[in-house]
Amino acid sequence: MAPFVELEWGSEAYALMWKIKRLLDPTGILNPDVVLSEDPDIHLKNLKPLPAADEIVDKCIECGFCEPVCPSNGLTLTPRQRIVIWRDIQARKRAGVDTSEIERLYHYHGVETCAATGLCAQRCPVGINTGDLVRKLRGREANRTGTANWLAEHFATAVQSTRFMLHVANGAHLIMGTRNMAKLSATMTRASKGRLPQWTPAMPQPLQRLHLPKPPTADERPRVVYLAACVSRAMGPAARDQEQEPLLDKTRSLLEKAGYQVIFPEQLNDLCCGQPFASKGYAEQGERKRQEMLDALLKASRGGLDPIYCDTSPCTLRLVQGLTDQRLDLYDPVRFIRTHLLDKLDFVPQDKPIAVHVTCSTQHLGEAQALIDIARRCAKEVVIPEGIHCCGFAGDKGFTTPELNEHALRSLKNAVQICEEGISTSRTCEIGLSRHGEIDYHGLVYLVDRVTRGKASAPL
Ligand code: SF4
Ligand code: SF4
Repeated sequence: MAPFVELEWGSEAYALMWKIKRLLDPTGILNPDVVLSEDPDIHLKNLKPLPAADEIVDKCIECGFCEPVCPSNGLTLTPRQRIVIWRDIQARKRAGVDTSEIERLYHYHGVETCAATGLCAQRCPVGINTGDLVRKLRGREANRTGTANWLAEHFATAVQSTRFMLHVANGAHLIMGTRNMAKLSATMTRASKGRLPQWTPAMPQPLQRLHLPKPPTADERPRVVYLAACVSRAMGPAARDQEQEPLLDKTRSLLEKAGYQVIFPEQLNDLCCGQPFASKGYAEQGERKRQEMLDALLKASRGGLDPIYCDTSPCTLRLVQGLTDQRLDLYDPVRFIRTHLLDKLDFVPQDKPIAVHVTCSTQHLGEAQALIDIARRCAKEVVIPEGIHCCGFAGDKGFTTPELNEHALRSLKNAVQICEEGISTSRTCEIGLSRHGEIDYHGLVYLVDRVTRGKASAPL
């Protein structure tokens, strides 16, 4: 850039810059040749090699703008470092150098400890999502295609197994007590190399298998299709949470309070947005489940006549990304509340302060400010912890790679110490937030339901 500064600013301003520079830096030791240079060819010298590595990241200029938001920054690698090292591995391979040791290390530092939620893409001037590279690399390592296919075809059984595991953990906790249970679970998670999820006191209680009601035939109320994500169908509130009603029931009662008739998609127990598959590198199975879900939503919404409320923001993001069917009117909790509920509910803000966690998907959906605005309608004081971006829980990483979640939320407890409660829009993120913030985090709808009552003459 230095040879073009005069062209950009004009001779007069350029001469003034040099004057100031020479006054402050007479020997030219500060940032030499970077902004001001006497060498007209300096931009062609000392070039850093940027070897081709993968089309997803080849445009990276290694500026580092992405680094502050990355949950693994300071634990393992930042997005920029992931790219730099991946480039280096590819260059070495092309030169015939053995890269097995560096690749072995990269597996943990680069791949395993990436949340793959793509917050880095929001800061990148050329739009690189390093999580896409990581998912691609996971796809190369994904060798349990048979299991992934089986789970995709028997998804209701997979959700039921999660409920069963939560039942077992819950029972063991009751017998052993919190301290012993946490110790045993941490040992088992380590011994199984992260395959066994780590139990914490913030762990959800299991829910019963869903038995969804049939919609009444004569109902004048406007309809909303309620898509309860698989986590909301399997995971209840934590035992210590002051809110003990399952998210599904709480959401339904809020929607009904606002005057809606709540419709559930058929075969909801079998449905999944595909995120658990895609994030593990099983893109084909993930896309199949996503498509199956979109078909079910189209049917439930009568070809797109009714709005669709999805109670978990990462699932909403997964469904709307690349959505080509314009008939589907899909909402995450924040957009639905701000679009359809504000004029149907009266808000009386509570005195108790509330902590807000904006999930990565809420940021990708462009609803971050709207979430904060809704929280401010609900509580007189709202705390948004500074410096916490992605919580690092990433669906199940909080169970299998708990150090990522712990590192990302290391400052949370101090930041939320004046709060007794926090809100978010992702049940799994809330597990890690509750654990590390040491307050109860639950869904936004719990707060909205608590501080509102239905308007008698609300417009429908
Ligand atoms: S996807 Fe998330 S964890 Fe992975 S590099 Fe980007 S910001 Fe970091
Ligand atoms: S912000 Fe983008 S271009 Fe800059 S280092 Fe990160 S990935 Fe590379």
